Amino acid sequence: MSEERELEQAPSTEVAAPAPKKVKKIIRKKRPARPQVDSSFITSEPPPQTGTIFNIWYNKWSGGDREDKYLSKTAAKGRCNVARDSGYTRADKITGSYFCLFFARGICPKGQDCEYLHRLPGIHDLFNPNVDCFGRDKHSDYRDDMGGVGSFMRQNRTIYVGRIHVTDDIEEIVSRHFAEWGQVERIRVLNSRGVAFITYTNEANAQFAKEAMAHQSLDHSEILNVRWATSDPNPMAQAREARRIEEQAAEAIRRALPEAFVAEIEGRDPEARKRRKIESSFGLEGYEAPDDVYFARGAQAVNPMGRRGYELGHEERLMIENGETGGGGDAPLAIEAGQQSAGVKGGIFSSSTLAALKAAQVSTAPRAKATASSGPLVAYSSDSEDDE
Ligand SMILES: [Zn+2]
Repeated sequence: MSEERELEQAPSTEVAAPAPKKVKKIIRKKRPARPQVDSSFITSEPPPQTGTIFNIWYNKWSGGDREDKYLSKTAAKGRCNVARDSGYTRADKITGSYFCLFFARGICPKGQDCEYLHRLPGIHDLFNPNVDCFGRDKHSDYRDDMGGVGSFMRQNRTIYVGRIHVTDDIEEIVSRHFAEWGQVERIRVLNSRGVAFITYTNEANAQFAKEAMAHQSLDHSEILNVRWATSDPNPMAQAREARRIEEQAAEAIRRALPEAFVAEIEGRDPEARKRRKIESSFGLEGYEAPDDVYFARGAQAVNPMGRRGYELGHEERLMIENGETGGGGDAPLAIEAGQQSAGVKGGIFSSSTLAALKAAQVSTAPRAKATASSGPLVAYSSDSEDDE
């Protein structure tokens, strides 16, 4: 960003007249992905027989369930180094690309020619709940040993890590190693048992971490056993998870609706009612514009406030606000809200938001909804919505 500004202010700028407003592009430092291993690495030796059928396409054995038993005794062959290895690949040009499983394991020889993403998942990487971030199908149930891809019945952000070498500084070691794979929300270490539970903020990062750390060692020569954590039976933990889903949904709503509207329904702006009464009369005594008019946003908005920021084309503005949304149309929020808080009345609204809405007697204005449909709430309003 600062580089961009420097360029704009550089003395070489030809004319003094203000240039027409340009759409700001998000400039990222682009660097090609680095091949993690020599290309002979993958092809030189067929993988040891760990199943009953050899799949040429994936260069691995399937069938049987011996994979983990075998691998659990063998250290991983590589290790991803996010800072050093990540960069763009062919996949970055294609919306909805999946992450490279071999990259996560530190053994992708393809570098920038890879058809999969070579970087860490972020909050904008959203995938269909039926697949993981590597594009592998999830199953209806977990495997008995909680290994594998996992289940689509539950959003699991917590991985179990066993066989950690027990030392006094085990907590520090665990958090240092696992922070590399994304934002960590919580780490619980059972010190004496050499076991840890790591919860990531985003599910995709948990998926990535599980692959990246399988059969790795930490500061000692242990070989880790990494699995999905079973759901925490502790009611406190379950309440926390439910609250998080509510908060996430409320946050999505906040982002989708005009700020003034949210402030008013949440009662954060006590002056709002008064101000609105004056402003929304549009000079007509006794008139007060209904919500959908008052809070309307866009070039066509009646309220001058609503037109602010719409000097740019609507589409362009969206691009700026949303940045690069890598994912497809399915926001995991919708899924979560649907399956996890099915019992919560109102689904996507947190109870406090609902209460606020009721108190303010705000009918959900069709106009406000129309503007909202461009935001992260897309998945709620329509399932025919395309990517983009
Ligand atoms: Zn790759």
